[in-house]
Order: sequence, then C-alpha cells, then structure tokens
Amino acid sequence: MAQIKADPNKQSWEEAEFPILCETCLGDNPYLRMTKQSQAKECKVCTRPFTVFRWCPGVGMRFKKTEICQTCSKVKNVCQTCLLDLEFGLPVQVRDTALGLEDNAPRSDVNKEYFAQNMDAHFQNPDNGLGEGGFGKANSAGREMLKKLQRTEPYYKRNRQHICSFFVKGNCTRGAECPYRHEMPQEGELKHQNIKDRYYGTNDPVARKIMAGPKAGARQTGPPEDQSITSLFITGVTEDIKEPDVRGFFYVFGEIKSIVVVHKSKCAFVNFTTRAGAELAFEKSGGGVSLQGVPLRVSWAKSRPVGARTEQKGETGPTPEAVMNALQAGPPPPPGSAGSFTYPSQDPTYQGSTSKHR
Ligand SMILES: [Zn+2]
Ligand SMILES: [Zn+2]
Ligand SMILES: [Zn+2]
Repeated sequence: MAQIKADPNKQSWEEAEFPILCETCLGDNPYLRMTKQSQAKECKVCTRPFTVFRWCPGVGMRFKKTEICQTCSKVKNVCQTCLLDLEFGLPVQVRDTALGLEDNAPRSDVNKEYFAQNMDAHFQNPDNGLGEGGFGKANSAGREMLKKLQRTEPYYKRNRQHICSFFVKGNCTRGAECPYRHEMPQEGELKHQNIKDRYYGTNDPVARKIMAGPKAGARQTGPPEDQSITSLFITGVTEDIKEPDVRGFFYVFGEIKSIVVVHKSKCAFVNFTTRAGAELAFEKSGGGVSLQGVPLRVSWAKSRPVGARTEQKGETGPTPEAVMNALQAGPPPPPGSAGSFTYPSQDPTYQGSTSKHR
C-alpha cells in the first residue's frame, strides 16, 4: 500500500500514502482520519526526513504519529509508531533473541543514512540479493515461543491519554473535565527506555522483562542458591482449587507457614517454615502435580529482586517475583494491571502498539 520513491543516487525522500502500523496503534476507530505531512520530521532512527502521519486511534485516545520512516520500519518489520514487531507485537529484542536474528544495521550516523538509502532501493527491487524479510520464517521453535508471548488482540489501552501531570502533583483543578488520566504513574526503569535501543533491540528493559518470565521458569530445575527461599510457586491454579486442596497436598513435606492462593493470577504460594520442607516438597512434586485433576506446575519462588518495586506483568501472567512483590507490598495489584506493560508509549514523549502489516 505504501509507496516509497527512492533513488540511491539522488537524495529523494519518502512519500508514503499510508503508514505502516500495528493494529493497536491504528486503533479501533472505524472513521479513522489521518493527516499527512510530507517530510515533516526526521526519522528518529536514520534521521532522514519522512512523511509524518497523525491520527486519533479511537474515542478518548490520544493522537498518535509516526516516529520512524518506512524504510527503517521495513528493515526491522516494526510499526512506524510503537516500534514493536508487526507480526508478534513484541519488542525487537525479544523477537530477535527468540529467532536468533542478528542485527547488522549500522549505527554510525554516516553509515546509517547510506544503509537506509540502500534499503530503499532494496525494497523497490527485492531481487537484488539483500534477502528481504525472513523474520523468523525458518526458526519454528522461536516462532512458537513468540506466539506464546504475544498478545492475542490489539491492546488499545496503550493509546490512552497521558497521565495528568497536575493530578500527579495533586493540583489538577479540571476534575472530571480533565482530558488526561488521573492516576499515579508507575515508576520504573521502563521510563528510561530509548527509542533507538528499542529499534536496534539492544538494552531494552521491556524486552528484558518479557524474556525474564518464561526463561526464568524453564531454567529452574534445582533449588535456588538463596537459602532464605522456602517458598514454592504453583501455577495453573484454577478456581476449583482452594487453599485446603493445596495444603492437603503439601503439608506432608514439612510445616507450612502460609499458603496464598491468587485465583486472579492462577497461582499459589506455599511458604514452608524450613528450607528442608520446601526442598522435599519440590523434589516430590517433581516440578508438577495434579490437584482435583488439574495439572499444576511447581517451581521455586524467587527472592525479591533488589530495587524492583514495580511489577510489570507480561502476557503469560505475572512472574513469581512480581506476585511476590505484590504480596509483600500488601494489597494485591488493582484489577486491570495484570497483563499490561507500561511502555514508554504511555509517556508523553512516545506513542504506542501490537501486530499486523498494513
Ligand atoms: Zn528511518
Ligand atoms: Zn487533570
Ligand atoms: Zn504500533
């Protein structure tokens, strides 16, 4: 749909008819109108001028605009606005790690522009041997993993208005009239996420959070070194499984200090008074048990990471430490916070995303 007029010999700038966006950034507004400004801004990656689109993705949502040019978007197969992978709606770093893709795009300003121009030519004529796309066509195991991590539908919440800065300071006088969100922002490293890091898939805290989840679970085979950990983390806990069921299974291994069942997160914690009790229980449950005919996964609960005060929850549910943190911090996380990342896209300087080619 989009067209790029490019000629590596001359300098010709992008003239696009329609942006390359993920479903989330596009929004669910059936009467979508876009404004288009040719060469209105520099691409945040290659710094070449590009066509900037601006639109409102839905009722009550904030205006969004494209941030990177179409060539940069195609090179990485990412949304021009949120920079998430178009197929999986995941950060580049997550995708590239899962699929074993290597990033060979140049970083230096001089080479970047040259590279972008070459890629322009390439996208016009894909037979020139540069090897188009191939984002994960080959690596089926990696693709499976990404499918597990991806959202199944657009995540429009990410298009919401920004948080009202006056409200945060406690002095917004607009009350219900205020177009901005009246809620406290979540502090955390994600705020410091940088658009280029996201694009190149390096040092991306969102990616790190997502990848920490499943990997941490999969690698957990033995008891953790931290001897103060005496808790097991049970996942797959359905509504039918109550605290006494859990207790009924685990009490034989040692004295239980407490059991916390969090149906909302489909998980439970069994806290033993001794390490020996926890170790025996883990050993005997062999990483998995069946209660009321429901298969449950048993793993070690993790210690609370130093300095991690905010929980960011992934698609696959909260990580053990996130739930632990929530439990230790007192009241459970508010409804709706589970399964939502805080992207910088929810910050004033950024925009937002999920998946689909346009
Ligand atoms: Zn660019
Ligand atoms: Zn306000
Ligand atoms: Zn997007």
